[in-house]
Amino acid sequence: MFKKLDEIKVLRDPIHGYIHVEYDVIWKCINSREFQRLRRIKQLGASYMVYHTAEHSRFAHSLGVYEIVRRMIVENNDIGSTISEKDAIAVMLAGLLHDIGHGPFSHAFESICQTHHEEFTERIILEDTEVHRIIEKTQAGLSKSVASIINHTHKNGLLTQMISGQLDADRMDYLLRDAYFTGTKYGEFDLERVLRTIRVRDGIMVVKETGIHTIEDYIMARYHMYWQVYYHPTARSYEIILSKLFERLRDCEKENSKVLKEVTMFNAFIRNKDISVNDHYLMDETTCFYGFSLLLESKDEILKDLSYRLLTRNLFKYVDITNDKMKETKKNQLIKKGYDIRYYFHVDKVEQRPYQPYKGDDLSAIWIVMNNGSIKELSEASDIVHSLVHGENKNEEKMFYPVG
Ligand code: ZN
Repeated sequence: MFKKLDEIKVLRDPIHGYIHVEYDVIWKCINSREFQRLRRIKQLGASYMVYHTAEHSRFAHSLGVYEIVRRMIVENNDIGSTISEKDAIAVMLAGLLHDIGHGPFSHAFESICQTHHEEFTERIILEDTEVHRIIEKTQAGLSKSVASIINHTHKNGLLTQMISGQLDADRMDYLLRDAYFTGTKYGEFDLERVLRTIRVRDGIMVVKETGIHTIEDYIMARYHMYWQVYYHPTARSYEIILSKLFERLRDCEKENSKVLKEVTMFNAFIRNKDISVNDHYLMDETTCFYGFSLLLESKDEILKDLSYRLLTRNLFKYVDITNDKMKETKKNQLIKKGYDIRYYFHVDKVEQRPYQPYKGDDLSAIWIVMNNGSIKELSEASDIVHSLVHGENKNEEKMFYPVG
């Protein structure tokens, strides 16, 4: 038996109405220092440079993922009756903590500092942190169980499917939340109906055939959100400047290491050596912005300019690349104007598929249980999804550079 709170805690949330917390361990983890840090990391990185209200945090999203997992267990009898209380607690914690290793500006920071949030998520859950101590005090060995659900090694695949499959609590929360906070309508779909039509067959999460239109809507929501929000070129432009700034800092370590003394908070990440969970704890978006404002006085002209651009939203322009000659012509123009093209020219290619069909023993496919009891993979059961999966891959190539 796991300890419950004397009174259920309810937190107001615009997506779910309320987030319900019944167990003591969940409440303590929410109040831990590592989880509270997520308030200082935005869910959508630079998207608020395009959609100005998209300032919601990973803290809010993580609570939302937890709530969807909780509802899957409490409201869906097929799931609730298949898993033990221990597994229920472990998967709720996995939902709550799945993003705890995220750094600032999500992927832009990771690519340049060569750190991966998955690695830090696992370390924060397993190393000597406040979150780890809370979980282990509740039940010895529980933290390993939580980490194994997140890194897909738990023996019960259903638990992993619930938080990181293609129809999981993570995606369902971020689509609805990002649509709400960007003010776009593309990400909306009927979460209530999805939760009602989920079933468990042979230990795997499936969806009833009658729920297929809701799932099609969910896949289309992803498709539109990618192009309208996640891959928006203006947000990409901001992220490119961020990456170039960190790239410049890294190069300064070899070319002019004195500059690193101006912004010591970045040193562990620039050198990428022995980054501790405490270095990670201190690195959030507030820290980054303080660093950028210090760089306004930098002795390095490139750092000074790039940080000014970030703080004033003076972004790089972008155009579609239609032939190879365009890139060379633009690079030459920039060189003539005196720009160092290592930091002032960038080519970016993006492509996406809103749904990947079943591959090997991949639990992440979406399965439909047909009215006659047979089970089909989603792209075989839906004509719309079939055409999305087998149609031409949509991709875009753009170049980014400063104007003037
Ligand atoms: Zn997430």
